[in-house]
Amino acid sequence: MGEFELIRRYFQRPTAPASGVALGIGDDCALLQPTPGTQMAISSDMLVEGRHFFPDVDPEALGHKALAVNLSDLAASGARPVAFTLALSLPRADEAWLAGFARGLFALADAHQCTLIGGDTTKGPLNICITVFGEVPVENGRSLALLRSGAQVGDDLWVSGTLGDARLALHALQGQRVLPAEVLQTARQRLERPTPRVALGLSLRGIATAAMDLSDGLAGDLGHLLQASSCGADLQADALASLPACPWKGLSTDDRLSLVLGGGDDYELLFSAPPAQQAAVRAAGATAGVPVTRIGRLVATPGLRVLDAQGQPLPGHFQSYDHFA
Ligand code: ADP
Ligand code: MG
Repeated sequence: MGEFELIRRYFQRPTAPASGVALGIGDDCALLQPTPGTQMAISSDMLVEGRHFFPDVDPEALGHKALAVNLSDLAASGARPVAFTLALSLPRADEAWLAGFARGLFALADAHQCTLIGGDTTKGPLNICITVFGEVPVENGRSLALLRSGAQVGDDLWVSGTLGDARLALHALQGQRVLPAEVLQTARQRLERPTPRVALGLSLRGIATAAMDLSDGLAGDLGHLLQASSCGADLQADALASLPACPWKGLSTDDRLSLVLGGGDDYELLFSAPPAQQAAVRAAGATAGVPVTRIGRLVATPGLRVLDAQGQPLPGHFQSYDHFA
């Protein structure tokens, strides 16, 4: 099977005319037709074998995750997904692998009406790079995109869904921790099949003052938001300890805190909103079908503190993942 046959067989699909896409796969460029009164939101994420996933991972889950991590960036910006490109480096044209990968990829793409419009295919070590394109309305000259820089002192800090379970699964798969089979199964789902919070991102437009998605662990990612917004944060330890979905008794409160703060691969949204918007935030979560938890608030004192139930700072620092650290 040659390069073009591979593209035709696995990635080129009979195209129903999708909104926003004027020309899809097959020419030198795809053409997007932006909706009048919108800005385009663009993001790329690369997944490298051995670094972001295990060589033996289920290809269907990998197809899902490769797109999910990109859609998560659109969600964090409050953007509606429109299209994506796929740059793929493959060691060989393994048909079973390609069929599984395409199945996982397109199931998620179709669920979000996000069209594959092009890409590149070469032979080489397994490497998957997706670029997504989304739309955000501009109203009265003002973009409705959610940025990292809009948080204000006094705002509440919120996260969606559950945190820490993906890291728990990673530890188990790396042999650092032994988990009961049913616990591993649930945690592994979170690692391998994250759910991009696209609907929540859309519902938070006009409510959240700042937002980002959590890919490298709450402590480090929050650090970026604090830096962009020039403020600090006080987090509540009890709220953080409640965030892992894992009901396993073998997890201490300290374990939970370090999984939540230093974990990664959560692909949940972290966002700020004024206290007056608490009901609106909960309503946005309900509309999007995802729980939202208030984890603390933004303060003028720079840096990040984790407070116990008495309001006293807990010792310990928590690092997030940095590829070059
Ligand atoms: P060029 O050499 O002009 O960059 P290619 O010959 O690499 O184009 O690709 C032919 C067409 O197939 C292009 O429209 C390209 O966008 C598309 N394509 C290539 N690889 C992929 C892929 N993995 N997924 C989707 N479309 C792809
Ligand atoms: Mg090419």
